[in-house]
Amino acid sequence: MSSSSLHLKPNREKSILKHHPWIYSGAVEKVTGNPNSGETVAVYASDGKFLAWGAYSPKSQIICRIWTWDESDVIDSEFLRRKLQIAINFRKAYISNGVTNSYRCVFSESDGIPGLIIDRYDSCLVLQITSAGAEFWRNSLIGICREVPGVTVCYERSESEIRKLEGLSPSQGLIFGTKLNSPLEIHEWGIRYLVDIENGQKTGFFLDQRENRKMVQEFSNNARVLNCFSYTGGFSLNAFKGGAIEIISIDSSAEAIGLAVKNWELNSFPNDRGIWIEGDVFQELRKFRDRNEKFDLIILDPPKFAPNTRSVPAAARAYKDINLLAFKLLRNGGILFTFSCSGGIEADLFQKIIQGAALDAKREVQILEKLRQDIDHPVPLNYPEAEYLKGLICRVII
Ligand code: SAH
Repeated sequence: MSSSSLHLKPNREKSILKHHPWIYSGAVEKVTGNPNSGETVAVYASDGKFLAWGAYSPKSQIICRIWTWDESDVIDSEFLRRKLQIAINFRKAYISNGVTNSYRCVFSESDGIPGLIIDRYDSCLVLQITSAGAEFWRNSLIGICREVPGVTVCYERSESEIRKLEGLSPSQGLIFGTKLNSPLEIHEWGIRYLVDIENGQKTGFFLDQRENRKMVQEFSNNARVLNCFSYTGGFSLNAFKGGAIEIISIDSSAEAIGLAVKNWELNSFPNDRGIWIEGDVFQELRKFRDRNEKFDLIILDPPKFAPNTRSVPAAARAYKDINLLAFKLLRNGGILFTFSCSGGIEADLFQKIIQGAALDAKREVQILEKLRQDIDHPVPLNYPEAEYLKGLICRVII
């Protein structure tokens, strides 16, 4: 296949032997064969033993991402087609049974295709390519996308910052299909949503919260609800469906609030039951506290406060701040859905932060459930970094 190779320094093969898919540049003794960015290289241990085939990324600290540990594999379009088919078939079987027509088809390392995300919104695929290896195989991957049954449009959203780290420039636009109807309409749990795949956050919708949105329905009956960081209203609409009497939603993005209001109307939900605030959650929560407002259910689903380990202390303070305020605003017996999607904040740390917040708010709190990203965002045993979303359902006793 390829004549290029990476040779690791002594004792640096351990993580590859455990099938972790990354090689850091510091672990590499030498590169032979002058490979291009994204090209396939053979990876060898210092004793000359074959370890894996991977994609070379000379500009990145992660100099190689593994395609396979099987020496007999050939990395070509057929290899990628097989990987994609396995990923897509799994989603078809588990998710598209009437619950929704939108899900993550391919989740990067989790599906053995590092740097490739494909989200499906009805008949439209949204592609995000964030690694040199996936970029190298761009045309093959797009060719495979064309073959996916029922797909008529493919749109690229590769403007992510991570591309820079791989030496790639941003790329956005229609890849195939005649005309893009954005925002397009999807459904989930019987609720209709408009998704702006061109300008929306991520690829347009937070698919990872699907099961958690359903859980919100279970706790909403007769509740006065406060949905913080509401984006296009996912949790708010589910709260209404679950029987909430009033739902107040806060988001700092005017576009997100605009689409949330449209979603409310699209579902013919009564205007007087949904209140939308364009504002900063940190400030708005303080205003509610100062007015001594009380809620039965609060949802906190903030953006990634800690994108890297350096930002963990500041992020921890921010999580504590909003959770402390939320605990103060809950009635006895009230429920808090609280999330962190920061890779840098592990589940244990997150729980400790919430504990500190409850203590300072002088509330006695139980955990009812631990939540995670939905199953179309699976986590390989050998790649725990894929687990980024964690959540807790907490109940304030007194
Ligand atoms: N819960 C949503 C996703 C939330 S994403 C869903 O299930 O669809 C995080 C949201 O927080 C984004 O919509 C972003 O606009 C908003 N946001 C970020 N910082 C904020 C702040 N300080 N105050 C209010 N909203 C903020």
